[in-house]
Amino acid sequence: MRSRTACPGCGLVLADAVAVEPARLHATPACEAVLHELLGFEFQHPVMLRYHQLTVDAYGAQHAGAPTAEIRVASSLAGLWLALEHGFSAEEVRAVHRGMGSPTPSWPRFEPPSPPQRWLTALDVAEAGVRQGSIGGHARAAGQWAESVWGAWLGTGAGVDAAVESLLRSVFVTDARPAGLHGTIGPAAAVHRLVGLLEG
Ligand SMILES: [Zn+2]
Repeated sequence: MRSRTACPGCGLVLADAVAVEPARLHATPACEAVLHELLGFEFQHPVMLRYHQLTVDAYGAQHAGAPTAEIRVASSLAGLWLALEHGFSAEEVRAVHRGMGSPTPSWPRFEPPSPPQRWLTALDVAEAGVRQGSIGGHARAAGQWAESVWGAWLGTGAGVDAAVESLLRSVFVTDARPAGLHGTIGPAAAVHRLVGLLEG
Protein backbone atom coordinates (compact mmCIF):
# COMPACT_ATOMS: atom_id res chain seq x y z
CA MET A 1 0.00 0.00 0.00
CA ARG A 2 1.25 3.44 -0.94
CA SER A 3 1.95 5.83 1.85
CA ARG A 4 -0.19 8.89 2.35
CA THR A 5 0.93 12.45 2.79
CA ALA A 6 -0.90 15.57 3.96
CA CYS A 7 -0.66 18.48 1.55
CA PRO A 8 1.34 21.28 3.21
CA GLY A 9 -1.01 23.86 1.69
CA CYS A 10 -4.56 22.61 2.02
CA GLY A 11 -4.01 19.68 4.39
CA LEU A 12 -5.63 17.16 2.03
CA VAL A 13 -4.32 13.66 2.83
CA LEU A 14 -3.89 11.56 -0.31
CA ALA A 15 -1.97 8.46 -1.38
CA ASP A 16 1.37 9.56 -2.79
CA ALA A 17 1.36 10.05 -6.55
CA VAL A 18 3.02 7.22 -8.48
CA ALA A 19 4.71 9.24 -11.19
CA VAL A 20 6.28 11.97 -9.19
CA GLU A 21 6.94 15.28 -10.75
CA PRO A 22 7.76 17.73 -8.03
CA ALA A 23 4.81 19.94 -7.13
CA ARG A 24 5.03 23.42 -8.57
CA LEU A 25 3.18 25.02 -5.68
CA HIS A 26 3.31 24.51 -1.90
CA ALA A 27 1.44 21.22 -2.34
CA THR A 28 1.89 17.51 -2.70
CA PRO A 29 2.11 16.14 -6.26
CA ALA A 30 -1.07 14.14 -5.51
CA CYS A 31 -2.94 17.32 -4.57
CA GLU A 32 -1.75 19.07 -7.73
CA ALA A 33 -2.95 16.08 -9.75
CA VAL A 34 -6.47 16.74 -8.42
CA LEU A 35 -6.17 20.39 -9.51
CA HIS A 36 -5.23 19.22 -13.01
CA GLU A 37 -8.30 16.99 -13.04
CA LEU A 38 -10.43 20.08 -12.35
CA LEU A 39 -8.65 22.20 -14.96
CA GLY A 40 -9.00 19.45 -17.56
CA PHE A 41 -12.75 19.23 -16.92
CA GLU A 42 -13.12 23.01 -17.23
CA PHE A 43 -11.27 23.13 -20.54
CA GLN A 44 -13.37 20.25 -21.94
CA HIS A 45 -16.54 22.23 -21.32
CA PRO A 46 -16.15 25.87 -22.33
CA VAL A 47 -19.34 26.75 -20.44
CA MET A 48 -17.31 26.16 -17.27
CA LEU A 49 -14.54 28.56 -18.11
CA ARG A 50 -16.18 31.14 -15.89
CA TYR A 51 -15.41 28.87 -12.95
CA HIS A 52 -11.83 28.44 -14.12
CA GLN A 53 -10.69 31.70 -12.53
CA LEU A 54 -12.23 30.73 -9.18
CA THR A 55 -10.48 27.36 -9.36
CA VAL A 56 -7.11 28.93 -10.08
CA ASP A 57 -7.54 31.53 -7.34
CA ALA A 58 -8.97 29.18 -4.70
CA TYR A 59 -6.11 26.76 -5.28
CA GLY A 60 -3.46 29.49 -5.25
CA ALA A 61 -4.82 31.01 -2.04
CA GLN A 62 -4.91 27.59 -0.44
CA HIS A 63 -1.27 26.80 -1.23
CA ALA A 64 0.62 29.87 -0.04
CA GLY A 65 4.25 29.35 0.99
CA ALA A 66 7.41 28.47 -0.97
CA PRO A 67 7.71 27.41 -3.74
CA THR A 68 4.43 29.16 -4.54
CA ALA A 69 5.38 32.59 -5.88
CA GLU A 70 4.17 35.51 -3.77
CA ILE A 71 2.53 37.05 -6.81
CA ARG A 72 0.41 33.91 -7.20
CA VAL A 73 -0.84 34.25 -3.63
CA ALA A 74 -1.47 37.98 -3.94
CA SER A 75 -3.27 37.67 -7.26
CA SER A 76 -5.31 34.72 -5.98
CA LEU A 77 -6.44 36.67 -2.94
CA ALA A 78 -7.20 39.70 -5.10
CA GLY A 79 -9.20 37.44 -7.42
CA LEU A 80 -11.24 36.00 -4.55
CA TRP A 81 -11.85 39.45 -3.07
CA LEU A 82 -12.99 40.85 -6.43
CA ALA A 83 -15.19 37.88 -7.34
CA LEU A 84 -16.71 37.08 -3.96
CA GLU A 85 -16.92 40.46 -2.26
CA HIS A 86 -17.56 42.64 -5.30
CA GLY A 87 -19.10 40.39 -7.96
CA PHE A 88 -16.40 40.83 -10.60
CA SER A 89 -16.69 38.37 -13.50
CA ALA A 90 -13.87 35.98 -14.37
CA GLU A 91 -12.96 38.18 -17.32
CA GLU A 92 -12.83 41.29 -15.15
CA VAL A 93 -10.65 39.49 -12.58
CA ARG A 94 -8.25 38.46 -15.34
CA ALA A 95 -8.05 42.05 -16.56
CA VAL A 96 -7.14 43.23 -13.06
CA HIS A 97 -4.56 40.43 -12.73
CA ARG A 98 -2.93 41.51 -15.97
CA GLY A 99 -2.75 45.06 -14.71
CA MET A 100 -1.14 44.15 -11.38
CA GLY A 101 2.36 43.84 -12.85
CA SER A 102 5.23 42.46 -10.82
CA PRO A 103 5.49 42.49 -7.05
CA THR A 104 7.38 45.38 -5.50
CA PRO A 105 8.71 45.70 -1.94
CA SER A 106 5.58 47.69 -1.09
CA TRP A 107 3.28 44.72 -1.66
CA PRO A 108 2.03 43.25 1.63
CA ARG A 109 3.08 39.76 2.62
CA PHE A 110 0.17 37.45 3.16
CA GLU A 111 0.59 34.98 6.03
CA PRO A 112 -1.57 31.98 5.21
CA PRO A 113 -4.00 30.28 7.55
CA SER A 114 -2.22 27.07 8.56
CA PRO A 115 -3.83 23.68 8.06
CA PRO A 116 -5.74 21.84 9.29
CA GLN A 117 -8.54 24.16 8.26
CA ARG A 118 -12.20 23.36 8.05
CA TRP A 119 -12.19 24.28 4.41
CA LEU A 120 -13.14 22.52 1.25
CA THR A 121 -10.39 21.31 -1.07
CA ALA A 122 -9.91 20.55 -4.75
CA LEU A 123 -10.95 16.97 -3.95
CA ASP A 124 -14.45 18.08 -2.86
CA VAL A 125 -14.87 19.81 -6.21
CA ALA A 126 -13.54 16.79 -8.14
CA GLU A 127 -15.91 14.45 -6.33
CA ALA A 128 -18.93 16.67 -6.94
CA GLY A 129 -18.02 17.42 -10.55
CA VAL A 130 -15.53 15.72 -12.85
CA ARG A 131 -15.67 12.33 -11.11
CA GLN A 132 -19.42 12.23 -11.71
CA GLY A 133 -19.31 14.01 -15.05
CA SER A 134 -21.47 16.73 -13.51
CA ILE A 135 -21.06 20.27 -14.79
CA GLY A 136 -23.63 21.58 -12.30
CA GLY A 137 -21.89 19.77 -9.44
CA HIS A 138 -18.57 21.27 -10.45
CA ALA A 139 -20.02 24.76 -10.69
CA ARG A 140 -21.66 24.61 -7.27
CA ALA A 141 -18.69 23.01 -5.54
CA ALA A 142 -16.16 25.39 -7.12
CA GLY A 143 -18.13 28.34 -5.76
CA GLN A 144 -18.38 26.79 -2.30
CA TRP A 145 -14.69 25.94 -2.34
CA ALA A 146 -13.71 29.51 -3.20
CA GLU A 147 -16.01 30.84 -0.44
CA SER A 148 -14.53 28.48 2.12
CA VAL A 149 -10.93 29.39 1.23
CA TRP A 150 -11.69 33.12 1.37
CA GLY A 151 -13.53 32.57 4.66
CA ALA A 152 -10.49 30.83 6.17
CA TRP A 153 -8.24 33.73 5.16
CA LEU A 154 -10.70 36.22 6.65
CA GLY A 155 -10.78 34.08 9.79
CA THR A 156 -7.06 34.58 10.46
CA GLY A 157 -7.95 38.03 11.79
CA ALA A 158 -5.00 39.53 9.92
CA GLY A 159 -7.21 41.84 7.88
CA VAL A 160 -6.63 40.17 4.53
CA ASP A 161 -9.44 42.11 2.90
CA ALA A 162 -7.91 45.44 3.92
CA ALA A 163 -4.46 44.25 2.78
CA VAL A 164 -5.80 43.23 -0.64
CA GLU A 165 -7.55 46.55 -0.96
CA SER A 166 -4.44 48.52 -0.10
CA LEU A 167 -2.36 46.43 -2.51
CA LEU A 168 -4.78 47.14 -5.36
CA ARG A 169 -4.91 50.81 -4.42
CA SER A 170 -1.10 51.02 -4.53
CA VAL A 171 -1.10 49.47 -8.00
CA PHE A 172 -4.10 51.09 -9.62
CA VAL A 173 -4.79 54.38 -7.85
CA THR A 174 -1.85 56.67 -8.41
CA ASP A 175 -1.66 60.33 -9.25
CA ALA A 176 0.83 59.55 -11.97
CA ARG A 177 -1.56 57.30 -13.82
CA PRO A 178 -2.17 58.58 -17.37
CA ALA A 179 -5.85 59.42 -17.81
CA GLY A 180 -5.97 57.39 -21.01
CA LEU A 181 -5.79 54.16 -19.06
CA HIS A 182 -9.20 54.78 -17.56
CA GLY A 183 -11.14 53.36 -20.49
CA THR A 184 -14.68 52.15 -20.40
CA ILE A 185 -14.70 49.15 -22.71
CA GLY A 186 -12.97 45.78 -22.67
CA PRO A 187 -10.36 44.99 -20.05
CA ALA A 188 -9.90 48.67 -19.24
CA ALA A 189 -13.50 48.76 -18.05
CA ALA A 190 -12.68 46.28 -15.28
CA VAL A 191 -9.80 48.43 -14.10
CA HIS A 192 -12.04 51.50 -14.33
CA ARG A 193 -14.64 49.74 -12.18
CA LEU A 194 -11.95 48.74 -9.69
CA VAL A 195 -10.58 52.27 -9.43
CA GLY A 196 -14.11 53.57 -8.86
CA LEU A 197 -14.57 51.00 -6.11
CA LEU A 198 -11.26 51.89 -4.43
CA GLU A 199 -11.87 55.61 -4.65
CA GLY A 200 -15.53 55.39 -3.68
ZN1 LIG B 1 -3.29 20.84 -1.42
